[in-house]
Amino acid sequence: SIVVLGSTNMDLVAYVARAPARGETVTGREFRTVPGGKGANQAVAAARAGAEVSMIGAVGTDDFGVRLRAALDGAGVDTDLLRTAEGPSGTAHIVVDDEGGNAIVVIPGANGAVTALTHGDEALIGNADALLLQLELPLSVVTEGARTARRLGVRTILTPAPAKPLPPELVAATDLLVPNEHEAAALTGVTDPYAAAEALLRVVPEVVITLGARGSLYASREAPPVTVSAPRVTAVDTTAAGDTFVGALAVALGEGRPVPGALAWASVAAALSVQRPGASTSMPYRSEIDMETNS
Ligand code: ADP
Repeated sequence: SIVVLGSTNMDLVAYVARAPARGETVTGREFRTVPGGKGANQAVAAARAGAEVSMIGAVGTDDFGVRLRAALDGAGVDTDLLRTAEGPSGTAHIVVDDEGGNAIVVIPGANGAVTALTHGDEALIGNADALLLQLELPLSVVTEGARTARRLGVRTILTPAPAKPLPPELVAATDLLVPNEHEAAALTGVTDPYAAAEALLRVVPEVVITLGARGSLYASREAPPVTVSAPRVTAVDTTAAGDTFVGALAVALGEGRPVPGALAWASVAAALSVQRPGASTSMPYRSEIDMETNS
């Protein structure tokens, strides 16, 4: 099983021809509310990829909180340990323009109320094959989660997004770090992915850097780096491609698949998701990933 310690956000998405400048008002075309948050997205991706998944985090006491919890329940994610914190849920205010560019404001809301782990959380983590972490909860609790998993012998997989400096104690408790190339560059100060991977291996034992349509790069202290190409597809919406990739990767690794095969399978999952609009709604089911992998 997989445990996600992470965020839930309601994505409030405005589609406009052109984003407004400061002080300007523009008329948009469409508005959508979509359940999201990196934590919840990874949980849904892993559940659809076939794992038993539990989510630790918090939704608010507003209407969004009800919908965010229901979305996870509907995806088959266990929400028994998902808290409901007094006040608003996390929200992401997203403006998408006609060129597919976006500008985003995230307000953590209830996510900020996840400040410590309970005994129940620890027991759940201790029974898992992997703990998935991102940086949309307070860094103190992300660090506590990673350290708890490490102590209990559970693999920790950290997506260092949104990019920010990592506490050394968090890095020290991370088994597999999965940045995209921008996050890798932000963490290391070098833009070449191979050089960034080498720098990151000084502090974590295994790294996967995702490279968008160019695939991904895996590096460990044991063997030379390997690149896995992404299936060539027509992307219509790359939102949450990275979360889909990590969710599927965790499932494959949790089942004991060797790294190259696990990466290829995760790449197929992510490629399926970018061909369909939406974030969690676009994530593929295990049968689809298997079918595409074997074709
Ligand atoms: P993020 O979504 O976090 O920015 P990336 O853009 O690197 O991360 O995408 C994560 C993974 O999703 C990539 O490693 C790749 O496997 C897959 N992916 C992303 N964009 C495409 C694309 N246009 N075509 C095929 N696969 C893609």
